[in-house]
Amino acid sequence: MTAIGVMGGTFDPIHFGHLRAAEEVLQGFGLERVIFVPAGMPPHKPLSEVTSPEHRYMMAKLATADHPRFDVSPVEIQREGPSYTLDTLRELKQTICKDKKLYFITGFDAILEVHTWNGYKQLFDLADFIAVTRPGYSVEAFLTLEKFLGPECFSKVHPFPVTLLAIASREIRRRVREGESIRYLVPEPVRLYIEKHGLYSATAGDMG
Ligand code: ATP
Ligand code: MG
Repeated sequence: MTAIGVMGGTFDPIHFGHLRAAEEVLQGFGLERVIFVPAGMPPHKPLSEVTSPEHRYMMAKLATADHPRFDVSPVEIQREGPSYTLDTLRELKQTICKDKKLYFITGFDAILEVHTWNGYKQLFDLADFIAVTRPGYSVEAFLTLEKFLGPECFSKVHPFPVTLLAIASREIRRRVREGESIRYLVPEPVRLYIEKHGLYSATAGDMG
C-alpha cells in the first residue's frame, strides 16, 4: 500500500521550513506525495489575525508548483466552519487517498497540542503522525506527549529529525510589517505574491 503525507497548517505564509521538512519526510518515508492543506479557519488562531484562505492557498500553490510530488488541497478552505483535521483526514480517505496509508505531518511544536484537537483519538485510526524537529522544541518535551496520549496513540507518532530551519510565518509577517527583507525565507514566487498583494504590510487592508 502506498502512503501519502498530509501537512496541515495555516501557511500564512508557506515558507522553506514547511517545504524542506515535507521534502525530507517524503524521501525518508518513501511517500508517494505530500498534500499541503491550508486551514480555512484555524480553530486555534484568532480570525482577525489570519490572512484570507484564498491568499494562503495561492501562496501554497505557487510554492509547490515546481515539485512533481507536492500538491495543495482546498478541502479545508472550501468547508464551512472551523477546520478540523479529523474532518479533513476523513474526506481525503474517502476521495483522493482511498486505499492509501496516511501520515499527518506536524512540527515538534504542533504535535505537543495534538491531544487538544477535536476527536484526537479517532485521528489515530485514520493516520499515523510524523513529528518533525523544529528549532526551540526539544525531544524531552516531545516525550512528555506519551503521558497525554497514552502508549497506543503515542506509538503512532514517529519523531523524525529534519534539517533545522529557524523560520516561522509570524517572523516573516513581522519582517514585512517592519519593512525588512524576506528573501530566501520563502520561495521567490511567494515573496513576489506577498509584495504584489501588499500582504502583511501595515497598510494592507485585507488581512481578515
Ligand atoms: P506561525 O508562526 O504563524 O504559527 P508557522 O511557521 O508555525 O506559522 P504553521 O502554518 O503554523 O507555520 O505550521 C504548519 C506546520 O508546519 C506545523 O505542524 C508546524 O509545526 C510546522 N512547521 C512550521 N515551521 C516549521 C519549521 N521551520 N520547521 C519544522 N516544522 C515547521
Ligand atoms: Mg505555527
